[in-house]
Amino acid sequence: MKLSEKKLFLFDIDGTLAVGDELLPESRELLDEIEARGGQSYFITNNSTRSQEDYVTRFREVFGLAARPEQFATSSYVSALALREQFGNASVFVVGTGSLIAELRRFGVNAVTEWRDDLAALLVGYDSSLTYEKLCAASELLQTTALPWFATNPDLRCPAPFGFIPDCGAICHMLTDTTGRHPHYFGKPARRMVDLCIEQSGFTPEQTLVVGDRLYTDIACGINAGVDTCLLLTGEATLDELRTTIYRPTYCFETVAALRRACKF
Ligand SMILES: [Mg+2]
Repeated sequence: MKLSEKKLFLFDIDGTLAVGDELLPESRELLDEIEARGGQSYFITNNSTRSQEDYVTRFREVFGLAARPEQFATSSYVSALALREQFGNASVFVVGTGSLIAELRRFGVNAVTEWRDDLAALLVGYDSSLTYEKLCAASELLQTTALPWFATNPDLRCPAPFGFIPDCGAICHMLTDTTGRHPHYFGKPARRMVDLCIEQSGFTPEQTLVVGDRLYTDIACGINAGVDTCLLLTGEATLDELRTTIYRPTYCFETVAALRRACKF
C-alpha cells in the first residue's frame, strides 16, 4: 500500500518527531494532515517512567500539541494490559518507580513490592529508585520460584547530560548475570505495541506504518508485527548502518518534512 493511502501512523517520539524539547520541522503539519485525511497517529515509546497523562501534558506544554491519553502506547501501558490479561487479580511483584506502580494499578494490575503468597509474576522496569534491597528481593524470587519474569523495555541505557545512565535492560542484565534467568520484554522490538494500536484504532496492518529513528527497536518492531516501516535519519540510525542492517525498513527519509511530502502522493 502506498504512503498516501496509509491511515495508522505509529511514531516513535524522541529522535523521530522531536529531539529533546524541540519538535522537528513539519512534525506538527504531518500530524494534522494525517488526521485531516481520516487517519490516526499513535506514539509508541519504550520510556516507562512517564504515564499516558504525563505525555498528554508534555505534548501540550512543551510541543503545543493536543493529544489524547489513548494515543500513547508506552511500555508501562502495554505491560499493564498484558499482565492484567494474563494474571487477572493475582499479585505482580514490581521492581520499578512509584509512577510505574501507579500506572499498573490504574489499569487493574495488583502491583506489589513485598512477598505475597499469590504472586504470579515479576516485572522489572526502568527504576530510578533502584536499591540493593530490591535487587536482592528479585534475585531471591528468580531463584526460589518458577514465576515468569517480565520487563518493560530492553533498552540498555538512556541519555543523560553527561552521557548515559542504566535503563531497564541494564538492570535486567545484572539480574541475569546473577540468576541465569532471562526476562520477556514487552516494549519495542516486541510486536505487542503495534498489535495494540491496530486493535484499538480499527485499522488494518496494511494501512499501518511504523515510523522511527532506530533500526533495532522501531524498525524491528514493525517488522516483527508484519507492517510497513519508515526510518527517519533524524536521530540514531545512520546511512552506513542502513546499508548493513538486518532490519530493513520499507521506506527511509532524511527528515520529517520529506516523509510529509511523500505521504501526499
Ligand atoms: Mg527514538
